[in-house]
Amino acid sequence: MTEETYRKLWKLKLEHLNLESYGFPRSHPDHPTRAVLGFSQRPRPQQEPRASESSGSEPEVLSGQSSRICTRCGVAFKLDKQSRPQRQICRYHPYQTTYKKKFRCCGRRENARESPCKTARQHVHSYFPPEALENFRPTRNNASQAKRIYALKCAHVYTEKGTEVASVSLVDAFCSVVYETKVRPESKILDCDTEISGLRRRDLENVQKKLQDVIEDLNALIGPKTILVGFRLQRDLTSLRMIHENVVEITVLYPHKWAPRRTNSLYFLRRTFLSWENIQAPLKSREEAITAMKLALHRL
Ligand SMILES: [Zn+2]
Ligand SMILES: [Zn+2]
Repeated sequence: MTEETYRKLWKLKLEHLNLESYGFPRSHPDHPTRAVLGFSQRPRPQQEPRASESSGSEPEVLSGQSSRICTRCGVAFKLDKQSRPQRQICRYHPYQTTYKKKFRCCGRRENARESPCKTARQHVHSYFPPEALENFRPTRNNASQAKRIYALKCAHVYTEKGTEVASVSLVDAFCSVVYETKVRPESKILDCDTEISGLRRRDLENVQKKLQDVIEDLNALIGPKTILVGFRLQRDLTSLRMIHENVVEITVLYPHKWAPRRTNSLYFLRRTFLSWENIQAPLKSREEAITAMKLALHRL
């Protein structure tokens, strides 16, 4: 990575106001370690990122106690007394529709009467309790002053608490891995969301690393001058309780052509702009981090 690459990429980062409107975690004016997620409080610009795949939705900050909306199928379901989702069959499409209004997973039409292609043992949610916005850390206070470019990607799984980080990959501008780990979710895994996360239960069985350890490790690598590249990075930064200023967001660099409120999938962008470049990686979070980095450099 040359100084010039860094300088060019710096020009593509989101402005402060956009960080707010795209839902990136921002410091609360009176409580620096409390985050404010802009998307629910402020008017949004036209090209606001939206879920392109089933598990990609922004965390819902709701106050409901006894029921949730399933992130995959949209059905409301009840929680038991321990706030765990009750068992109830969930039928869903793992991927969204293409511009031809056919689901990318199975090719069925959007309005077809056939039931969705995938059946799971239970519904899942991405509920994000308001108290989860505490204990955020602004990277501006971190020690590392190096001018670095990293792409960051997390993979999430569904647990009894909602969604939790299960793997994290950080790659540099040469697409070499700088940091990578699987993460042990705090609560019981309900569904690994394998189509999206690339992870199966057995991949996480002996993992000891906890999210808090990962957050410490990442804060040692990422400082106030680091440029972070990502695809729907606001979600990953929220999961990692990180407030970062210098963000290059792929969904903003490559807006959807016909529907400004939708986002292109990483799959589509890779096919269109990287000519289906074969990116092989043991973890999907690494594959996606590399894809995001290549897409950002492609724009220079
Ligand atoms: Zn399907
Ligand atoms: Zn469901």
